[in-house]
Amino acid sequence: MGPLAQICPDFMIGNGQRIKIRDFMNNNRWNVQKLYNTMPGHIALFISSVGIGDVNDRDYAVWKATDNGQYSNKSAWTIIRSLRQKAPLITKIWHNAVPFKISFLSWRLLHNKLPFKDAVAKFGKQGFKDCICCISPQDETPQHAFIEGKVAHHLWNKIGAPLGFKHHNIPFRGLLEEWWNRKAKNKVHKFTMQIAPMMILWEIWKAWSSCRFGEQKKFDLYKMEMQITWNMKAAITVAYPTINAESNWCNRGDMIEKLSPVVKCIPVC
Ligand SMILES: [Zn+2]
Repeated sequence: MGPLAQICPDFMIGNGQRIKIRDFMNNNRWNVQKLYNTMPGHIALFISSVGIGDVNDRDYAVWKATDNGQYSNKSAWTIIRSLRQKAPLITKIWHNAVPFKISFLSWRLLHNKLPFKDAVAKFGKQGFKDCICCISPQDETPQHAFIEGKVAHHLWNKIGAPLGFKHHNIPFRGLLEEWWNRKAKNKVHKFTMQIAPMMILWEIWKAWSSCRFGEQKKFDLYKMEMQITWNMKAAITVAYPTINAESNWCNRGDMIEKLSPVVKCIPVC
């Protein structure tokens, strides 16, 4: 049974005969009367409007998914694959000015793939309960270590303040959206706001890992701050070589916001 038989089962199955398309043709034309007599009017009308072609040509298959009727693997793949919407937050993590290891950390954080107690518990292990970033230790979660803890607060404020951000405790995704969706004053400002959060997270991660699993005894805030600003300066210099980025981060934030395009006129004789 083909699609037509499924639409008009009474007719097609009726007397058990195998009816073919050519049974509805007479002298290379549709037998319109027979069509109307045997199936619903709107279907008969549709069929009668279909061109029959030349009877001397051999029949051939037509692939409807392409304009030329020829089959291609690409068009077949387009039909069967399920298109997933791109998550804008994830796509912004993979920035070409940010080293892979730094982007990958943000990805792991978004997917709860860092060795904090909840993630570790899935493997039957017990993680650390108390944080190492506050004077009065608190429940150590990724949200605490990277956003709400004392060290995190210090760094987000230090790097964010010159760019106009005041750090507050909101979920990690929301914080990234705040940084990445804020209206930028120029291209460099936008670029800086895009890469800064990942640089901050990376430095927190490095220091946290060294304190937890290495020899480091406590967080060195000054060193972390310097490392972030150095990484930021390096990235800005690579992306915008003509900009002489200030060494001092406070001055640099101000300078970045005030940047404006310079129009150059070259006389041509
Ligand atoms: Zn803490």
